[in-house]
Amino acid sequence: MKESMNTQQIEALVERWVRPEIKELSAYHVPDASGLIKLDAMENPYTWPQELRSEWLELLRTVDVNRYPDPQASAVTAALERSMGVPAGARLLLGNGSDELIQMLAMTLGGPGRTILSVDPGFVMYSVIAKFVGMEYVGVPLRSADFCLDTPALLQAMDQHQPALVFLAYPNNPSGNLFSEQELLQIIQAAPGVVVIDEAYAPFTDASFMSRIGDYPNLLVMRTVSKMGLAGLRLGLLVGASEWIEQIDKTRLPYNINVLTQASAEFALGHQEMFDSQTGEIRKQRTILFNALMAIDGIKPFPSDANFILVRMPKGRAQEIHGALREQGVLVKCLDGAHSSLSDCLRITVGTPEENSSFLQALTKVL
Ligand code: PMP
Repeated sequence: MKESMNTQQIEALVERWVRPEIKELSAYHVPDASGLIKLDAMENPYTWPQELRSEWLELLRTVDVNRYPDPQASAVTAALERSMGVPAGARLLLGNGSDELIQMLAMTLGGPGRTILSVDPGFVMYSVIAKFVGMEYVGVPLRSADFCLDTPALLQAMDQHQPALVFLAYPNNPSGNLFSEQELLQIIQAAPGVVVIDEAYAPFTDASFMSRIGDYPNLLVMRTVSKMGLAGLRLGLLVGASEWIEQIDKTRLPYNINVLTQASAEFALGHQEMFDSQTGEIRKQRTILFNALMAIDGIKPFPSDANFILVRMPKGRAQEIHGALREQGVLVKCLDGAHSSLSDCLRITVGTPEENSSFLQALTKVL
């Protein structure tokens, strides 16, 4: 950089032109996990058998990276329809991760004076993306004892704020619980705008709103392939009536799903049974890990229908324990300070039996 261009000049320009709400945000921070047992990001810990890997790599040889991808991603869309039990008549929209779909929804229904409503603590991207597009965000507190919905408060907030969009994660992140189906139906019926049921953790529960899409004019269901074991591909899907999808699709950047993702996801979804057995194993390990955590004095795990468990540590010690676990080679997520009802909480992703044992050993050592 030329010496004449001084930092003060740049800072003055940044100060003048970057939108105030963006300046307020901090960039999404992903901690370095090198060399650590990674139980912080809800990934599937299992890889593929060598044979399958070779078959996949052979397929990738045939992909032309000099060409733009299929703009409609037709083959992978058909594979997702089969794999995710999309009801007949519903349409799919694909995103570069479901994060991108949240952004497309906000761009389609948002704008100044419009509101996104969700629950707190909930998935952070709903409020972050509201900021990106200049929308208001209203987070209705969950009941602090068990992270259940406070339905009267939600109904009241919807009445007051008339949200264009309501996001509810089912199961919820970071608490891991499923909200009451009846209460969610009540919310869908009362909402003035769209309700998105975010089923990112669908592989770890039998509950779903997918089959109800045709029952309510304002219901959309969002899924991702991330948690089943394809987080690196970045592929999410939004499912709903074609009238909605047609509009939201207008905010999609052309070719948002790259050729490698399209080919790889279509291939992977052809091996659904392998993913089902991996996620089935994670469900079993979740129970084992939960019971082991329950048996430790002074901490409290919350029941989970997802591939992670929220755990309350002894008062005032979560950050220190998080650091000490890291020293012991295990990376988990510290949520202490993220929200008042998450004080003293860590979130542990369910790993392989060996990873979970290493975590439990480290935890008993540092407690
Ligand atoms: N929804 C929820 C509830 C999540 O927890 C996450 C990821 N942590 C996402 C959506 C985003 O998933 P992705 O962008 O990987 O599809």
